[in-house]
Amino acid sequence: LKIAKTVTFAGGRADRAAELRPDAAALRALAAREGARLIGLVGGQPLLCDPGSDPGGGPGAAPRLARLALGGAPPEGAVFLGREGAEGLWAAALPAAPEGTRAADLRGVMTELAPDEAERAVTARALLGWHASHGFCAACGAPSRPTRGGWQRDCPACGAHHFPRTDPVVIMLVTRGEEVLLGRSPGWPSEMHSLLAGFMEPGETLEAAVRREVREETGVRVGAVAYLASQPWPFPASLMLGARAEALSRELRLDPDEIESALWVPRERMARIFRGADPVIRAPRRGAIASFLLWNWLADRLG
Ligand SMILES: [Zn+2]
Repeated sequence: LKIAKTVTFAGGRADRAAELRPDAAALRALAAREGARLIGLVGGQPLLCDPGSDPGGGPGAAPRLARLALGGAPPEGAVFLGREGAEGLWAAALPAAPEGTRAADLRGVMTELAPDEAERAVTARALLGWHASHGFCAACGAPSRPTRGGWQRDCPACGAHHFPRTDPVVIMLVTRGEEVLLGRSPGWPSEMHSLLAGFMEPGETLEAAVRREVREETGVRVGAVAYLASQPWPFPASLMLGARAEALSRELRLDPDEIESALWVPRERMARIFRGADPVIRAPRRGAIASFLLWNWLADRLG
């Protein structure tokens, strides 16, 4: 899909400088420079510049991540995000937002961030979240410690190496003729419906996961499956794999544990939903890949 890079969180071209990660001396030298910077997260929320204290800001300007001075060495638990020009960039969890910054819900600001800023924010959130929940060796249970700029954890007791996790999730635009299949998970607000989605299982291809999830949740049989676009979704560690799927059957038999409601929505109604004019269903959140896929299906741009 040519427009896949326009997916929110997917269009960044940030320099991750992965070649520097194993070079502790190079990282120390980069951190010692006056231009070294730090992105902060407070409670998992990235710190943005307050508009008033951002020289590049002002009314209507895109929000930007605050870049704090690193101060000579990265704080405990910081991860190395890469380079900006000649300077290094780190990220760390902070106890509170320093003056001139504000913590922002990433899902609330995701469509306003420039692609490179969005990539830095999701990378920082995903990587710091991994450290926060993987402090112990999965092989022997001893406390492990971060290495390679935070892109690995090593176990001093048994020598095992551990790497940041990404959990693939299939999300599918299931169509039959001019209708698309939407569903609502238990616990969602009643007006909220979206594309069906589910975690991939070990041993599955993307195509098999799409067919299994749709069958389990709604009883619908799926034929052709095609990959469309992906989206990093660090809540906490997912990678959404957007696929198109052609339904071979139409009858719905819902699994109440997985899904509370599902329905076939004709194209005209989907357009109405996006206009905010449907009395029952609200459009999926802007910036989420479900919204991207549905919008481009409506615009006939998926072929
Ligand atoms: Zn171990």
